[in-house]
Amino acid sequence: MILSFYPGPSKVYPQVATYLQDAYQSGILSVNHRSAEAMEMVKETYRLLHEKLEIPAEYSIAFISSATECWEIIAQSLTRQQSLHAYNGAFGQKWAEYTQKLGVEVIPKPFDLNDACELTEDAELICLTQNETSNGTQIRMATLEKIREQTTGLIALDATSSMAGVAFNWQLGDLWFASVQKCFGLPAGLGIMIYSPRALRRAEEINERNHYNSLLFIHENAAKFQTHYTPNVLNIYLLKRMLEQVPVLSEVAAHLKNRAQAMIQFFNQETHWEILAENPLIQSDTVLAITGEKEKINQIKINAKSHGIMLGNGYGKWKENTFRIANFPALTDNEFSIVKHFITQS
Ligand SMILES: *Cc1c(COP(=O)(O)O)cnc(C)c1O
Repeated sequence: MILSFYPGPSKVYPQVATYLQDAYQSGILSVNHRSAEAMEMVKETYRLLHEKLEIPAEYSIAFISSATECWEIIAQSLTRQQSLHAYNGAFGQKWAEYTQKLGVEVIPKPFDLNDACELTEDAELICLTQNETSNGTQIRMATLEKIREQTTGLIALDATSSMAGVAFNWQLGDLWFASVQKCFGLPAGLGIMIYSPRALRRAEEINERNHYNSLLFIHENAAKFQTHYTPNVLNIYLLKRMLEQVPVLSEVAAHLKNRAQAMIQFFNQETHWEILAENPLIQSDTVLAITGEKEKINQIKINAKSHGIMLGNGYGKWKENTFRIANFPALTDNEFSIVKHFITQS
């Protein structure tokens, strides 16, 4: 099997092989999603998410189908007129574009790759990409704290490639979302939304109920440990099993942060490659974007494959001049030694 460093879909935990077998054996795959068994599983998975990801008790959790779906949910259910989108990469920009297509007045606030996201404007809703998977940058909690201080609005954060890998101060955001094929180390097809009482109050004030995935409808189901549609029961099962075996997030996050630092130092000091974002204050802990000449990028990806290693392609504007390496929890330190060795030799 090829060793994948792709930042999503990414390497799944090897235990998934056993969990899949167990899921089949347990009979959970054939139960009705409103049955007691399914509700018990959803309830336990919420409990484990709260415990392992250290999510405040007053924040609610709901399952959706993907992070992309959440862009739509936010535009539908949490926005009266306007939403402000600050972004420095492809995912943040796409989010802004989709929101605009849904008829919301978007205030775009693009910022430079190496800048911290220093917003001074206020808006009813501020949309941020906590970890920009396309260029390997992140908005740190210290920056988020400043944004929080100067806004009366809600803050929504796309944490698709950092949730379960970075320790957030959850209180600094009102709605956080992710899909499980990145830091959660699971197959694609399940999204997770985590939201504050304030977000819920806003949704109640707006009272938008025109869509199957209207936030209030989602919440009413989630409060009963059900879902607003027949969910990916298999993936919820895998998530539960995975959460049972991982350490609490603060431990995982400290480990990943050190490993990211070591990899950044390795690329900048021991190779002819460079980390795309030079500013250490905004470099991502979970996705590394490495830059070099186009020809060399193509070559190293091909060489890697012949060594059983899959490097991530560049994305968006950086498609040609970067490759990416995921620093997700399912990847082991030993696997990082392997990729480092390969890069040193090639
Ligand atoms: C991967 C990714 C998405 C899209 O996730 P889906 O599961 O395909 O909806 C959105 N935002 C960011 C930052 C991502 O990394």
